[in-house]
Amino acid sequence: MGTVEHVTLACPRCGQETRHELAYAGRLLVVTTCTRCGNSLERDVRARYLADLRQRMMSKPGRMLRRFRRHPLSFTTSLPRTVPSKPLELIAEVKLVWRAAAAARQHDNTD
Ligand SMILES: [Zn+2]
Repeated sequence: MGTVEHVTLACPRCGQETRHELAYAGRLLVVTTCTRCGNSLERDVRARYLADLRQRMMSKPGRMLRRFRRHPLSFTTSLPRTVPSKPLELIAEVKLVWRAAAAARQHDNTD
């Protein structure tokens, strides 16, 4: 799973503002889930994710080095949020994006 954040949003099913879980792959919001009723909204971000990933990979060495020189301490704590440091994290991100894309397609068919 990518990065997860919690925010208060209006849920169409609950009809009120509830706590929502936002699942990100890198910088892209992939799934929004109401923690009260479980209603989730998936977005198909595959194309944007791949473009974003390519850019993250390409800019990684130079960017990491610059950030490390500037902020040696914050560098290590902020790293997991922007660039998957382990292959397993990357695989989890890709799975999240593709699973959400499949779910988003189903929504389109039923709506
Ligand atoms: Zn809800």
